[in-house]
Amino acid sequence: MSFERNNQLLNPDKWRNRWLIFGILLSFMVIFGLWQMPNAQDIEQVKSSIDNLYHLKKDQLVLKSNIVEEDIDQVQAKINQLPLLSRYTYQAKFDRAKESFEEIENARSIFVINDSDGQRVLIPEVDRSSLESKIASCNESNSDICQIYYEAEEILDQIDIANKKSQELPSIKIRGDIEPALKALNEFEKKYGHLVAHPQSEELKQNIGEYADLLGKTILDGHQFGDYSENFYALLEETESLSGPLRGSSLDNQPLIALTFDDGPNADITPKLLDILNKHGVKATFFVMGAYVDENPELAKRIVDEGHLIGNHTYNHFDLATLSDEEVMTQIDWTQESIVDATGVEPDLYRMPFGSGGWRVVDLLNQHGMTSILWNLDTLDWSTQDANSIIETVTMSLQHHTLLLMHDTHEATPEAIDFLIPMLRDQGYEFVFPEQLAFEQRYFEE
Ligand SMILES: [Zn+2]
Repeated sequence: MSFERNNQLLNPDKWRNRWLIFGILLSFMVIFGLWQMPNAQDIEQVKSSIDNLYHLKKDQLVLKSNIVEEDIDQVQAKINQLPLLSRYTYQAKFDRAKESFEEIENARSIFVINDSDGQRVLIPEVDRSSLESKIASCNESNSDICQIYYEAEEILDQIDIANKKSQELPSIKIRGDIEPALKALNEFEKKYGHLVAHPQSEELKQNIGEYADLLGKTILDGHQFGDYSENFYALLEETESLSGPLRGSSLDNQPLIALTFDDGPNADITPKLLDILNKHGVKATFFVMGAYVDENPELAKRIVDEGHLIGNHTYNHFDLATLSDEEVMTQIDWTQESIVDATGVEPDLYRMPFGSGGWRVVDLLNQHGMTSILWNLDTLDWSTQDANSIIETVTMSLQHHTLLLMHDTHEATPEAIDFLIPMLRDQGYEFVFPEQLAFEQRYFEE
């Protein structure tokens, strides 16, 4: 065996073959080398695009602060276009830039853009101690990153100042305090309002919320004794934190309407009405009778499942003014039970049949945690049973804040509602639940 192999090695033909293979390989290498020869212009472009990522700062080359992901991707794409063999030098240089970029991006991620208002805010994880430990490692070489930390620290400082200032807002005790308090709150908002969006502003939010609640309540109380100045109303409208406390009140400029339907659930009408409300994406309140809930429990369930509010309209629709306290409670309790059985929800709103019962019933049910809801616009739909006349009544008597009484017991009602919802929307009305309207529109308070 071994002799034969030696013999082969000495074979002149084999040697010729080897030279041939060597020659072919060499030609390939030359061709490959020529193919891999970078175009001088491409190289120049890659060099300058990498250099462009940097600028000179205090004698040091640092990554420019306005670099974005796209710039990085573009440089990488240019490098990728170079022949394989010449990429490595530039890739290594570029990787250093990319690494610094990622470090800065990472530091920047302590800020996010708020979905609701587009404001740039700190993330919840940022607090003073986490920032201080990051700032402790700051030096000349990472000054761009530290700039971001300093900015975050500055925001925390401002929040602390705003907290302190929020506790120094003028006190509100008498009507005479209202105007200075409103001015102070308005100025406070202008100066510090933007800070409230940061998750670190819990205490600030709470302080301002409590102050605005108190001020809103005092303004509404004071309003009963006469109008304020024109400037006052302008300032009121401009002061954002008061929009919540004044919501639904006579001082709220937003037109509001609460749709309410009594006397159901009705096997024919209620499903039609629910379909129409669904179609328009509007939520309403249904004051149901216990006797009908027992007949149509699945409809009561559908009302609740589709996001509407359910309220108690007694079991048999008796005039509560003619019943004893005990009988009133029986009517209410039976209905509560029927509703809970059908829906799993226990209502805390009720409407007295015929709106009859007065303060006796209101006080009695208040002891059981239930709120009376009446209305300020009666469509008389049960009496006219005509869509056009319902629409006309609503159009004629519509109020800035309307609590609309209707009944899901007649065909005309869903028909009218289908027309009224788009009409009201066009007029700027927002659809709310009764409790979002102020006392004046609900008539009886707890
Ligand atoms: Zn009724």
